[in-house]
Amino acid sequence: MLIVQKFGGSSVANVERLFNVADRIAATYRDGHKVVVVVSAQGDTTDDLIAKAHEISDRPSRREMDMLMATGEQQSMALLTMALQQRGLPAVSLTGWQAGISTSSAHTAARVRKVNPQRISHELEKNNIVVVAGFQGYSKQDDITTLGRGGSDTTAVALAAGLSAELCEIYTDVDGVYTADPRIVKKARKLDEISYDEMLELASLGAKVLHSRSVELAKKYSVNLVVRSSLTDAPGTYVKEVGSMENVLVSGVALDKNVARVTIVGVKDEPGVAHRVFSLLSKRSISVDIIIQSIGSANSKDIMFTVERSSEREVLDILEENRRHLHYDHITSDNSMCKLSIVGAGMVSTPGVATTMFEALSDTNVNIGAISTSEVKISVLIDEKDADKAYNAVHDVFVDTNIQFRN
Ligand code: ASP
Ligand code: MG
Repeated sequence: MLIVQKFGGSSVANVERLFNVADRIAATYRDGHKVVVVVSAQGDTTDDLIAKAHEISDRPSRREMDMLMATGEQQSMALLTMALQQRGLPAVSLTGWQAGISTSSAHTAARVRKVNPQRISHELEKNNIVVVAGFQGYSKQDDITTLGRGGSDTTAVALAAGLSAELCEIYTDVDGVYTADPRIVKKARKLDEISYDEMLELASLGAKVLHSRSVELAKKYSVNLVVRSSLTDAPGTYVKEVGSMENVLVSGVALDKNVARVTIVGVKDEPGVAHRVFSLLSKRSISVDIIIQSIGSANSKDIMFTVERSSEREVLDILEENRRHLHYDHITSDNSMCKLSIVGAGMVSTPGVATTMFEALSDTNVNIGAISTSEVKISVLIDEKDADKAYNAVHDVFVDTNIQFRN
Protein backbone atom coordinates (compact mmCIF):
# COMPACT_ATOMS: atom_id res chain seq x y z
CA MET A 1 0.00 0.00 0.00
CA LEU A 2 0.90 3.67 -0.18
CA ILE A 3 1.75 5.21 3.18
CA VAL A 4 2.53 8.85 4.02
CA GLN A 5 4.77 9.20 7.08
CA LYS A 6 5.33 12.62 8.63
CA PHE A 7 8.14 13.27 11.11
CA GLY A 8 8.09 16.37 13.31
CA GLY A 9 11.02 18.57 14.23
CA SER A 10 11.99 16.71 17.40
CA SER A 11 11.98 13.37 15.55
CA VAL A 12 14.67 14.60 13.15
CA ALA A 13 16.51 16.93 15.57
CA ASN A 14 19.98 15.36 15.29
CA VAL A 15 22.02 12.73 13.46
CA GLU A 16 20.99 9.90 15.75
CA ARG A 17 17.29 10.76 15.39
CA LEU A 18 17.63 11.10 11.61
CA PHE A 19 19.01 7.56 11.40
CA ASN A 20 16.30 6.33 13.77
CA VAL A 21 13.70 7.79 11.41
CA ALA A 22 15.53 6.39 8.37
CA ASP A 23 15.36 2.92 9.94
CA ARG A 24 11.61 3.22 10.49
CA ILE A 25 11.05 4.29 6.92
CA ALA A 26 13.32 1.47 5.76
CA ALA A 27 11.26 -1.09 7.65
CA THR A 28 8.03 0.15 5.99
CA TYR A 29 9.68 0.19 2.57
CA ARG A 30 11.12 -3.31 3.01
CA ASP A 31 7.65 -4.57 3.92
CA GLY A 32 6.79 -3.76 0.31
CA HIS A 33 4.98 -0.44 0.76
CA LYS A 34 5.39 2.72 -1.25
CA VAL A 35 6.44 5.49 1.11
CA VAL A 36 6.10 9.26 0.90
CA VAL A 37 7.80 11.02 3.82
CA VAL A 38 7.08 14.56 4.99
CA VAL A 39 9.59 16.26 7.29
CA SER A 40 9.57 19.35 9.50
CA ALA A 41 12.60 21.50 10.17
CA GLN A 42 15.02 20.05 12.75
CA GLY A 43 14.40 20.92 16.42
CA ASP A 44 14.07 24.68 16.97
CA THR A 45 15.23 25.64 13.48
CA THR A 46 12.07 27.55 12.57
CA ASP A 47 12.16 29.57 15.82
CA ASP A 48 15.82 30.34 15.22
CA LEU A 49 15.11 31.54 11.68
CA ILE A 50 12.31 33.80 12.95
CA ALA A 51 14.64 35.21 15.60
CA LYS A 52 17.23 35.94 12.91
CA ALA A 53 14.67 37.87 10.89
CA HIS A 54 13.78 39.93 13.94
CA GLU A 55 17.43 40.91 14.36
CA ILE A 56 17.00 42.72 11.05
CA SER A 57 13.47 44.12 11.33
CA ASP A 58 10.46 44.07 13.71
CA ARG A 59 8.17 43.86 10.70
CA PRO A 60 9.91 41.69 8.12
CA SER A 61 7.85 41.24 4.96
CA ARG A 62 5.81 38.09 4.95
CA ARG A 63 7.06 37.03 1.56
CA GLU A 64 10.67 37.10 2.74
CA MET A 65 9.70 35.30 5.97
CA ASP A 66 8.43 32.46 3.81
CA MET A 67 11.63 32.40 1.78
CA LEU A 68 13.59 32.20 5.03
CA MET A 69 11.44 29.74 6.96
CA ALA A 70 11.15 27.33 4.03
CA THR A 71 14.90 26.70 4.23
CA GLY A 72 14.44 24.81 7.52
CA GLU A 73 12.50 21.99 5.89
CA GLN A 74 14.86 21.94 2.91
CA GLN A 75 17.74 21.14 5.23
CA SER A 76 15.94 18.29 6.94
CA MET A 77 14.59 16.74 3.73
CA ALA A 78 18.09 16.62 2.23
CA LEU A 79 19.68 15.25 5.42
CA LEU A 80 17.04 12.57 5.84
CA THR A 81 17.38 11.54 2.20
CA MET A 82 21.14 11.23 2.67
CA ALA A 83 20.53 9.06 5.75
CA LEU A 84 18.22 6.80 3.72
CA GLN A 85 20.77 6.55 0.92
CA GLN A 86 23.43 5.79 3.51
CA ARG A 87 21.29 2.83 4.58
CA GLY A 88 21.31 1.63 0.97
CA LEU A 89 17.78 2.76 0.06
CA PRO A 90 16.74 4.61 -3.10
CA ALA A 91 15.41 8.00 -2.00
CA VAL A 92 14.90 11.44 -3.45
CA SER A 93 13.89 14.72 -1.79
CA LEU A 94 11.41 17.24 -3.24
CA THR A 95 10.55 20.79 -2.21
CA GLY A 96 6.92 21.87 -1.83
CA TRP A 97 6.66 23.06 -5.42
CA GLN A 98 8.34 19.98 -6.84
CA ALA A 99 5.81 17.96 -4.87
CA GLY A 100 2.97 20.01 -6.37
CA ILE A 101 1.66 21.68 -3.20
CA SER A 102 -0.24 24.60 -4.71
CA THR A 103 -1.48 27.13 -2.15
CA SER A 104 -3.22 30.47 -1.71
CA SER A 105 -1.00 33.57 -1.74
CA ALA A 106 -1.43 34.39 1.97
CA HIS A 107 2.23 34.40 2.97
CA THR A 108 2.98 32.73 6.36
CA ALA A 109 -0.62 31.46 6.55
CA ALA A 110 -1.28 29.94 3.13
CA ARG A 111 -3.91 27.29 2.56
CA VAL A 112 -3.41 24.29 0.32
CA ARG A 113 -5.57 24.69 -2.81
CA LYS A 114 -4.58 21.69 -4.80
CA VAL A 115 -2.03 18.90 -4.93
CA ASN A 116 -0.49 18.04 -8.31
CA PRO A 117 1.31 14.82 -7.47
CA GLN A 118 2.68 13.83 -10.92
CA ARG A 119 6.32 14.17 -9.92
CA ILE A 120 5.82 12.19 -6.71
CA SER A 121 3.96 9.45 -8.60
CA HIS A 122 6.75 9.32 -11.12
CA GLU A 123 9.39 8.91 -8.40
CA LEU A 124 7.29 6.23 -6.67
CA GLU A 125 7.06 4.30 -9.94
CA LYS A 126 10.85 4.27 -10.01
CA ASN A 127 10.67 2.66 -6.53
CA ASN A 128 12.07 5.69 -4.80
CA ILE A 129 11.20 6.71 -1.28
CA VAL A 130 10.05 10.31 -1.74
CA VAL A 131 10.95 12.79 0.99
CA VAL A 132 8.94 16.02 0.82
CA ALA A 133 9.63 19.29 2.64
CA GLY A 134 6.67 19.96 4.95
CA PHE A 135 5.11 23.36 5.69
CA GLN A 136 5.83 24.88 2.26
CA GLY A 137 4.07 25.27 -1.06
CA TYR A 138 3.91 27.73 -3.93
CA SER A 139 1.38 30.39 -4.87
CA LYS A 140 -0.21 31.36 -8.19
CA GLN A 141 2.56 33.96 -8.48
CA ASP A 142 5.11 31.09 -8.20
CA ASP A 143 6.33 32.37 -4.86
CA ILE A 144 7.24 30.10 -1.96
CA THR A 145 4.55 30.10 0.75
CA THR A 146 4.28 28.48 4.18
CA LEU A 147 1.20 27.02 5.83
CA GLY A 148 1.41 28.50 9.34
CA ARG A 149 3.30 27.14 12.35
CA GLY A 150 2.92 23.40 12.67
CA GLY A 151 1.86 23.20 9.02
CA SER A 152 3.86 20.10 8.07
CA ASP A 153 0.97 17.98 9.37
CA THR A 154 -1.18 19.65 6.75
CA THR A 155 1.34 18.88 4.01
CA ALA A 156 1.21 15.22 5.01
CA VAL A 157 -2.58 15.01 5.04
CA ALA A 158 -2.90 16.97 1.79
CA LEU A 159 -0.48 14.56 0.10
CA ALA A 160 -2.27 11.54 1.56
CA ALA A 161 -5.53 12.90 0.12
CA GLY A 162 -3.97 13.90 -3.23
CA LEU A 163 -2.27 10.51 -3.67
CA SER A 164 -5.19 8.50 -2.21
CA ALA A 165 -2.80 6.96 0.30
CA GLU A 166 -4.15 4.12 2.42
CA LEU A 167 -2.64 5.56 5.60
CA CYS A 168 -1.17 8.80 6.91
CA GLU A 169 1.06 8.38 9.96
CA ILE A 170 2.04 11.46 11.95
CA TYR A 171 5.14 10.65 14.00
CA THR A 172 5.91 12.85 16.97
CA ASP A 173 7.64 12.72 20.35
CA VAL A 174 4.53 11.68 22.32
CA ASP A 175 2.76 8.38 21.77
CA GLY A 176 -0.56 9.80 20.64
CA VAL A 177 -3.38 12.16 21.53
CA TYR A 178 -4.00 12.53 25.25
CA THR A 179 -7.10 13.48 27.21
CA ALA A 180 -5.09 16.50 28.44
CA ASP A 181 -1.48 17.70 28.34
CA PRO A 182 0.37 15.00 30.32
CA ARG A 183 3.00 17.50 31.42
CA ILE A 184 0.36 19.39 33.43
CA VAL A 185 -2.35 16.84 34.16
CA LYS A 186 -0.95 13.80 35.94
CA LYS A 187 -3.93 11.60 35.24
CA ALA A 188 -4.03 12.33 31.50
CA ARG A 189 -4.55 9.18 29.44
CA LYS A 190 -3.66 8.33 25.87
CA LEU A 191 -6.69 7.83 23.62
CA ASP A 192 -6.82 4.84 21.27
CA GLU A 193 -9.07 6.76 18.92
CA ILE A 194 -10.85 10.06 18.54
CA SER A 195 -13.32 11.45 16.01
CA TYR A 196 -12.30 14.07 13.46
CA ASP A 197 -14.68 16.60 15.04
CA GLU A 198 -13.33 16.17 18.53
CA MET A 199 -9.75 16.26 17.29
CA LEU A 200 -10.50 19.42 15.35
CA GLU A 201 -11.84 21.12 18.45
CA LEU A 202 -8.91 19.96 20.57
CA ALA A 203 -6.42 21.11 17.93
CA SER A 204 -7.97 24.54 17.59
CA LEU A 205 -8.40 24.90 21.36
CA GLY A 206 -4.69 24.69 22.01
CA ALA A 207 -3.73 21.00 22.07
CA LYS A 208 -0.62 21.26 19.90
CA VAL A 209 -0.44 17.70 18.68
CA LEU A 210 -1.95 18.31 15.21
CA HIS A 211 -2.26 21.40 12.99
CA SER A 212 -6.02 22.07 12.92
CA ARG A 213 -6.10 22.53 9.16
CA SER A 214 -4.70 19.00 8.78
CA VAL A 215 -7.64 17.60 10.72
CA GLU A 216 -10.09 19.58 8.58
CA LEU A 217 -8.55 18.10 5.43
CA ALA A 218 -8.43 14.60 6.90
CA LYS A 219 -12.15 14.82 7.65
CA LYS A 220 -13.02 16.28 4.26
CA TYR A 221 -11.14 13.58 2.34
CA SER A 222 -11.63 10.73 4.86
CA VAL A 223 -7.90 10.27 5.31
CA ASN A 224 -6.97 7.37 7.53
CA LEU A 225 -4.88 9.22 10.11
CA VAL A 226 -2.84 8.01 13.07
CA VAL A 227 -0.68 9.96 15.53
CA ARG A 228 2.17 7.94 17.03
CA SER A 229 5.64 8.13 18.52
CA SER A 230 8.80 7.96 16.44
CA LEU A 231 10.67 6.69 19.50
CA THR A 232 8.54 3.70 20.54
CA ASP A 233 6.37 1.07 18.91
CA ALA A 234 3.22 2.07 20.81
CA PRO A 235 0.16 1.90 18.53
CA GLY A 236 -0.78 5.60 18.75
CA THR A 237 -4.17 7.29 18.38
CA TYR A 238 -6.43 6.83 15.34
CA VAL A 239 -8.34 9.90 14.17
CA LYS A 240 -11.43 8.76 12.30
CA GLU A 241 -15.07 9.41 11.49
CA VAL A 242 -16.78 7.85 14.48
CA GLY A 243 -15.04 6.73 17.59
CA SER A 244 -16.26 3.71 19.47
CA MET A 245 -16.48 6.03 22.42
CA GLU A 246 -20.16 6.87 22.24
CA ASN A 247 -20.43 6.38 25.97
CA VAL A 248 -17.72 8.84 26.76
CA LEU A 249 -19.04 12.27 27.46
CA VAL A 250 -15.87 14.30 27.39
CA SER A 251 -12.96 12.97 25.39
CA GLY A 252 -10.44 15.66 26.15
CA VAL A 253 -9.65 18.85 28.00
CA ALA A 254 -7.53 21.58 26.42
CA LEU A 255 -5.82 24.56 27.97
CA ASP A 256 -4.86 27.54 25.84
CA LYS A 257 -2.46 29.84 27.66
CA ASN A 258 -2.16 32.27 24.82
CA VAL A 259 -5.17 34.45 25.57
CA ALA A 260 -5.55 38.19 26.15
CA ARG A 261 -8.84 39.82 27.08
CA VAL A 262 -9.80 43.28 25.90
CA THR A 263 -12.86 45.16 27.15
CA ILE A 264 -14.31 48.25 25.55
CA VAL A 265 -16.19 50.02 28.30
CA GLY A 266 -19.07 52.38 27.65
CA VAL A 267 -19.95 52.15 23.98
CA LYS A 268 -23.36 53.42 22.81
CA ASP A 269 -26.22 50.96 23.00
CA GLU A 270 -27.22 51.30 19.33
CA PRO A 271 -27.08 49.24 16.12
CA GLY A 272 -23.76 48.87 14.29
CA VAL A 273 -21.37 49.14 17.23
CA ALA A 274 -20.11 45.54 17.20
CA HIS A 275 -19.82 45.69 13.44
CA ARG A 276 -17.61 48.80 13.61
CA VAL A 277 -15.30 47.27 16.22
CA PHE A 278 -14.84 43.84 14.67
CA SER A 279 -14.55 44.99 11.08
CA LEU A 280 -11.60 47.15 12.12
CA LEU A 281 -9.92 44.07 13.58
CA SER A 282 -10.73 41.73 10.72
CA LYS A 283 -9.33 44.22 8.22
CA ARG A 284 -6.00 43.75 9.96
CA SER A 285 -6.45 39.92 9.98
CA ILE A 286 -6.71 39.76 13.77
CA SER A 287 -8.78 36.80 14.81
CA VAL A 288 -11.11 37.25 17.71
CA ASP A 289 -12.27 34.33 19.80
CA ILE A 290 -14.79 34.65 22.65
CA ILE A 291 -17.03 37.73 22.43
CA ILE A 292 -19.36 38.90 25.18
CA GLN A 293 -21.51 41.97 25.18
CA SER A 294 -23.14 43.23 28.35
CA ILE A 295 -26.79 44.11 28.45
CA GLY A 296 -27.12 47.79 27.68
CA SER A 297 -28.12 50.16 30.44
CA ALA A 298 -28.49 53.95 30.46
CA ASN A 299 -27.76 53.91 26.74
CA SER A 300 -24.31 52.36 27.19
CA LYS A 301 -22.86 48.86 27.10
CA ASP A 302 -19.50 47.02 27.25
CA ILE A 303 -17.96 44.64 24.72
CA MET A 304 -15.40 42.09 25.85
CA PHE A 305 -13.45 39.81 23.54
CA THR A 306 -10.32 37.67 23.51
CA VAL A 307 -7.38 37.57 21.08
CA GLU A 308 -3.97 35.90 21.01
CA ARG A 309 -1.53 37.59 23.36
CA SER A 310 0.73 38.62 20.50
CA SER A 311 -2.14 40.65 19.00
CA GLU A 312 -3.02 42.57 22.18
CA ARG A 313 -0.71 45.54 21.47
CA GLU A 314 -2.00 45.94 17.93
CA VAL A 315 -5.63 45.71 19.06
CA LEU A 316 -5.12 48.43 21.65
CA ASP A 317 -3.45 50.63 19.04
CA ILE A 318 -6.31 50.13 16.59
CA LEU A 319 -8.93 50.96 19.23
CA GLU A 320 -6.99 54.04 20.29
CA GLU A 321 -6.61 55.24 16.69
CA ASN A 322 -10.36 54.90 16.22
CA ARG A 323 -11.42 56.31 19.55
CA ARG A 324 -13.45 59.17 18.07
CA HIS A 325 -15.18 56.96 15.57
CA LEU A 326 -16.10 54.27 18.16
CA HIS A 327 -17.20 56.64 20.98
CA TYR A 328 -16.24 54.48 23.95
CA ASP A 329 -15.47 55.58 27.46
CA HIS A 330 -12.26 53.59 28.07
CA ILE A 331 -10.47 50.29 27.35
CA THR A 332 -9.14 47.70 29.77
CA SER A 333 -7.01 44.70 28.89
CA ASP A 334 -5.47 41.71 30.59
CA ASN A 335 -2.94 39.38 29.00
CA SER A 336 -2.78 36.79 31.72
CA MET A 337 -5.93 34.87 30.83
CA CYS A 338 -6.29 31.24 29.78
CA LYS A 339 -9.03 29.34 28.05
CA LEU A 340 -9.95 25.96 29.46
CA SER A 341 -12.18 23.79 27.28
CA ILE A 342 -13.83 20.41 27.49
CA VAL A 343 -14.50 18.61 24.23
CA GLY A 344 -16.77 15.68 23.56
CA ALA A 345 -19.22 14.62 20.89
CA GLY A 346 -21.42 13.10 23.59
CA MET A 347 -22.15 16.28 25.46
CA VAL A 348 -24.57 17.85 23.02
CA SER A 349 -27.42 15.60 24.06
CA THR A 350 -26.50 15.43 27.72
CA PRO A 351 -27.83 17.91 30.24
CA GLY A 352 -25.72 18.83 33.23
CA VAL A 353 -22.29 18.82 31.62
CA ALA A 354 -21.75 22.54 32.02
CA THR A 355 -22.96 22.41 35.62
CA THR A 356 -20.47 19.68 36.43
CA MET A 357 -17.66 21.72 34.91
CA PHE A 358 -18.67 24.83 36.85
CA GLU A 359 -18.93 22.79 40.04
CA ALA A 360 -15.39 21.44 39.61
CA LEU A 361 -14.16 25.03 39.17
CA SER A 362 -16.15 26.28 42.12
CA ASP A 363 -14.82 23.47 44.33
CA THR A 364 -11.28 24.52 43.51
CA ASN A 365 -12.16 28.17 44.00
CA VAL A 366 -11.54 29.26 40.43
CA ASN A 367 -13.35 32.29 39.11
CA ILE A 368 -14.85 32.16 35.60
CA GLY A 369 -14.29 35.26 33.45
CA ALA A 370 -16.51 34.27 30.53
CA ILE A 371 -18.15 31.19 29.07
CA SER A 372 -18.62 30.05 25.51
CA THR A 373 -20.24 26.89 24.22
CA SER A 374 -20.84 24.94 21.02
CA GLU A 375 -22.28 21.52 20.28
CA VAL A 376 -19.07 19.70 21.11
CA LYS A 377 -17.29 21.99 23.54
CA ILE A 378 -17.58 24.28 26.54
CA SER A 379 -14.86 26.87 27.14
CA VAL A 380 -14.29 29.10 30.13
CA LEU A 381 -11.95 32.00 30.52
CA ILE A 382 -9.89 31.84 33.72
CA ASP A 383 -6.93 33.57 35.26
CA GLU A 384 -3.52 32.14 34.39
CA LYS A 385 -2.62 31.65 38.04
CA ASP A 386 -5.52 29.19 38.41
CA ALA A 387 -4.88 27.39 35.14
CA ASP A 388 -3.03 24.28 36.22
CA LYS A 389 -5.26 23.45 39.17
CA ALA A 390 -8.40 24.11 37.13
CA TYR A 391 -7.04 21.95 34.31
CA ASN A 392 -6.46 19.02 36.68
CA ALA A 393 -9.79 19.43 38.48
CA VAL A 394 -11.88 19.56 35.32
CA HIS A 395 -9.95 16.72 33.68
CA ASP A 396 -10.32 14.49 36.71
CA VAL A 397 -14.03 15.03 37.19
CA PHE A 398 -14.85 14.14 33.57
CA VAL A 399 -12.11 11.95 32.24
CA ASP A 400 -10.51 10.25 35.19
CA THR A 401 -13.74 9.30 36.90
CA ASN A 402 -15.40 8.99 33.47
CA ILE A 403 -18.74 10.06 34.88
CA GLN A 404 -21.80 8.95 32.98
CA PHE A 405 -24.91 11.05 32.77
CA ARG A 406 -28.43 9.70 32.60
CA ASN A 407 -31.47 11.57 31.39
N1 ASP B 1 8.79 23.92 10.95
C1 ASP B 1 7.48 24.51 11.01
C2 ASP B 1 7.20 25.00 12.41
O1 ASP B 1 8.04 24.88 13.29
C3 ASP B 1 6.41 23.59 10.53
C4 ASP B 1 6.20 22.36 11.36
O2 ASP B 1 7.00 22.03 12.21
O3 ASP B 1 5.18 21.68 11.13
O4 ASP B 1 6.15 25.54 12.67
MG1 MG C 1 3.68 19.86 15.02
